[in-house]
Amino acid sequence: MNFISTRGGEKVSGAKAIVQGLSSNGGLFVPEKFPAVTAEEMQAMLEMNYPERATKVLMKYLDEYDEKELLAACEKAYGQFEGNDPAPLVRLDDGVYILELFHGPTCAFKDMALTVLPYLLRKGCDLCGIKEEILILVATSGDTGKAALEGFKNAEGIKIMVFYPDDGVSKMQKLQMCTQEGNNVNVVEVKGNFDDCQSAVKTIFNSSEYAKILKDKNVLLSSANSINFGRLAPQIAYYFSAYLDLVSSEQIQMGEEIDFSVPTGNFGNILAAYYAKNMGLPIRRLHCASNENKILTDFLATGEYNMNREFYKTTSPSMDILISSNLERLLFEISGRNAELITKRMNELKEEGVYKITEEERQKIAEVFTGGYANEDEVVETVYDVFCDVGYTMDTHTGCAMKVAVDWFEKNKKDNTLMVVVSTASPYKFPQDVLYCVTGNDVKDSFKGIKRLHAATAMAVPKSLLTLRDKPVRFTKTAKAANLFDEVLAFVEK
Ligand SMILES: *Cc1c(COP(=O)(O)O)cnc(C)c1O
Repeated sequence: MNFISTRGGEKVSGAKAIVQGLSSNGGLFVPEKFPAVTAEEMQAMLEMNYPERATKVLMKYLDEYDEKELLAACEKAYGQFEGNDPAPLVRLDDGVYILELFHGPTCAFKDMALTVLPYLLRKGCDLCGIKEEILILVATSGDTGKAALEGFKNAEGIKIMVFYPDDGVSKMQKLQMCTQEGNNVNVVEVKGNFDDCQSAVKTIFNSSEYAKILKDKNVLLSSANSINFGRLAPQIAYYFSAYLDLVSSEQIQMGEEIDFSVPTGNFGNILAAYYAKNMGLPIRRLHCASNENKILTDFLATGEYNMNREFYKTTSPSMDILISSNLERLLFEISGRNAELITKRMNELKEEGVYKITEEERQKIAEVFTGGYANEDEVVETVYDVFCDVGYTMDTHTGCAMKVAVDWFEKNKKDNTLMVVVSTASPYKFPQDVLYCVTGNDVKDSFKGIKRLHAATAMAVPKSLLTLRDKPVRFTKTAKAANLFDEVLAFVEK
């Protein structure tokens, strides 16, 4: 299958789209058309395990890859997850399920894609005949960085460099990244918030001058951010898998429509659900959940995307984002794949921080997407309520999605459609905040938080977080957003 740019002018193979990350005019790669999954294929997938299902979904887009090899890569990737199911469904209540996507090596849903991406990228380079060394640059709001470092550590012919904002990641996230092992990794703290950090990395990607400097050193840039189609594709798989699990456990019948509520930041996770729907998965509505940074809630309600607003630091830092990059892919579809219009709007966003879609487009989006958000008090309230009512502990990001789901049922009392709330992080990844939600207690130390949260909930603590405490800190460098390329060069020349 070929991929085209949301800003026009480019058509490349899947392998090329993954290696390149972003199209040369700054657009995002999207499939030329959505591949369909037939009723027979759905039936066959019922019997499969997670890596087999993921392989089937990936092959729909990446047909130049070798299916057997891809299956082996998926088995290896998901073999690192704790427990025997990488994406288990937990029943909370009648018609309400949690899809737990945090059992991977770094305890957040980013692992679902970033454990597979190294293979997709390595093989992609081979398929494209690329001989240069690959340098992956990642801007992270916390979870992507660690998952990417873990996925790519010691990968052959690939170096990885992660930038995180000094103002915005949790202590646990920072510790996870700064203690990263591996001989090809580097981590730099950037002054500012996530949007500053992401913009600075995007500037490097978009500069032909920088590209030339690196090419002379035999280095090619690539990205592991959720704008890379190689991130998106493995995420489509868990929507299929969750649906199939509901069918095989007889909670729904094949063909019955369901809803998902998704904690959203960069719009990558929820966009994967939209892609699954476009491939034929029976999804009725997608509930797009934000925290106090509710730019998407406002956009879905008014059609105006306006970044000129206050930025809040919340207890769900991975959603503290005002530039939801993957929204561009949705806008592309909704506009009837109008690359010119998308280019115009993205330029408006860059220059004025705002664009507006037509009312017709807004309504088209509203046929599928519902927007909602939780403020900080509501997150605490929701996490506490669920803990009290059914004894289930969720993290603060998932709390936002739960709140939006609860609001939906409040407003639509007779709705019988099954709701799956997507859980994106282990409660132990944000132990102090979750402890506060379930007990009202504050602790300063993350590991004390873990201990007390365990005492309060009896939930098993992920091994990877327990061992963190004894690991030496390897990375302590801080840089200004304007100077990131110097850091890149220093790392390349090392
Ligand atoms: C990344 C992340 C999100 C947001 O996902 P997007 O794909 O960026 O919308 C939500 N929750 C957690 C825990 C995350 O790590």
